[in-house]
Amino acid sequence: MIVIGGGATGVGVAIDAATRGYEVLLLEQSDFGKGTSSRSTKLVHGGVRYLEQGNLSLVMEALKERGLLLQNAPHLVRNLGFVVPNYDWWEAPFYGIGLKLYNLLAGKYGFGASRILSREETLERLPTIKTEGLRGGVIYFDGQFDDSRLLVNLAATAFEQGATLLNYAPVTGLTRDGEGFVDGVRFRDAETGEEFEARAPVVINATGPFADAVRRMADAAVEPMIAPSQGIHLVFDGSFLAGDSAIMVPHTSDGRVMFAIPWHGHTVVGTTDTPIPEATLEPAAQEQEVEFVLQTASLYLEKRPSRDDVLSVFAGIRPLVRAGESGNTAALSRDHTIRIENSGMVTICGGKWTTYRHMAEDCVNLAATLARLPEQPCVTSHLNIHGFHSAAGKFGRLSVYGSDAPAVLEIEESDPALAQPLDPALPYTGAEVVWAARYEMARTLEDVLARRTRALFLNARAALSMAPRAAAVLAAELGCDAAWQARQVEEFARTAANYTLL
Ligand SMILES: Cc1cc2nc3c(=O)[nH]c(=O)nc-3n(C[C@H](O)[C@H](O)[C@H](O)COP(=O)(O)OP(=O)(O)OC[C@H]3O[C@@H](n4cnc5c(N)ncnc54)[C@H](O)[C@@H]3O)c2cc1C
Repeated sequence: MIVIGGGATGVGVAIDAATRGYEVLLLEQSDFGKGTSSRSTKLVHGGVRYLEQGNLSLVMEALKERGLLLQNAPHLVRNLGFVVPNYDWWEAPFYGIGLKLYNLLAGKYGFGASRILSREETLERLPTIKTEGLRGGVIYFDGQFDDSRLLVNLAATAFEQGATLLNYAPVTGLTRDGEGFVDGVRFRDAETGEEFEARAPVVINATGPFADAVRRMADAAVEPMIAPSQGIHLVFDGSFLAGDSAIMVPHTSDGRVMFAIPWHGHTVVGTTDTPIPEATLEPAAQEQEVEFVLQTASLYLEKRPSRDDVLSVFAGIRPLVRAGESGNTAALSRDHTIRIENSGMVTICGGKWTTYRHMAEDCVNLAATLARLPEQPCVTSHLNIHGFHSAAGKFGRLSVYGSDAPAVLEIEESDPALAQPLDPALPYTGAEVVWAARYEMARTLEDVLARRTRALFLNARAALSMAPRAAAVLAAELGCDAAWQARQVEEFARTAANYTLL
């Protein structure tokens, strides 16, 4: 199978197919996770929002996947308490009942019973919540993770299962057999410019918000199926949300759910839902989105956040499937869509990070049948993900590496210069740059500072300040010269400008 796209969906498909014994080539035009999969709210969740819509089977399916992900990647997924603060008398019983149902639907995959909190208990959990008019809260439990770290570990898992995965390998066209069906791809090595062709009995388009561009390679006149919608997050220092619980606001003034979440010692607040005309690889937050998140946050946080407090802003694009897209669509779940194109190519999109494994299972079932491959059962529900470690917390700042943490530590011990933080505001060291280059396919400074470490997402200015030192370590590892190093710092500065507010 050839998989186009190295986000959660494509890499999930690669793991599923490889573990069934099929040969897999995955091609990513930029870096793994450069698209939406590094820009999520970082929740592994059933989606409390769907409860209200009465879509209980969808919630149940996602809650099961949440449980499996905690089992299979405990070094990257954790159980987090979410408090719905109550300022009106009716909120506690209303949300109390809804969240009891949420926990019930999780069945044996439950993360903990929800319950109503007194005002004092709410303040204990959320010491920095706005107290004026606060009556109490309701607490429920959900999952939190590091999205691009999980993706890098998923790519390693796929590789260990025999798949071939390439980043910086854009697919530029499709090849066809004698009957006109897609039987392969043309792609380019973005570093050398060299062009290649690869053939397979089935090609899977897992390019998320870019799915229509790849579908147009097969049929220039095809009707678009994606309605791209952007969501942004603002990142502040950890003092804005003291304690270790998140806030969930079920109804903002625009009728959406909003979260404030503790993440890697910082506070992440989001998100928005803004239709945009077209997906781009580096989407930018719009002014009104920034204002909306700041305003909503200030309704709930005692310390009112301002633009000057924003350490990073990031935007992502939801690959939402247009309403009425039912023609050729095999909607195996209401949440994601798998479509067999007239050209024989398979397109998978929609869904969410949490359900990537289930989406992959559905997709490979269909693709294997289409390609007439020998039938093999899916085995991913209990497959440990690379880095699996049930007590990774003991590795402290290196816990996201799971079972790889001792090896990263060894690099630090081999050279004391590599053990120093690259910037005092963040814990990242030169050893992590070395590790990313040697074992995690990092090819550019941005790969290291945005997705192997999360420096750019946590604090864009600190990421900029560490860029020259990190580039020097990376250049030494990759055997690149001083001109390459300087170019990397320049390019990174251009990207980082998108993560800062003027
Ligand atoms: C703001 C926001 C918040 C979210 N929060 C959550 C959350 O908390 N929890 C959750 O479960 N889900 C969340 N989601 C949803 C989740 O992030 C997405 O569903 C998921 O990441 C989509 O993954 P994907 O692989 O389909 O797309 P992407 O991650 O975008 O991957 C597609 C890839 O295809 C590549 N590509 C495109 N064209 C080509 C080509 N020609 N050749 C090669 N490669 C190509 C792109 O470079 C890209 O890397 C959120 C989404 C958004 C937008």
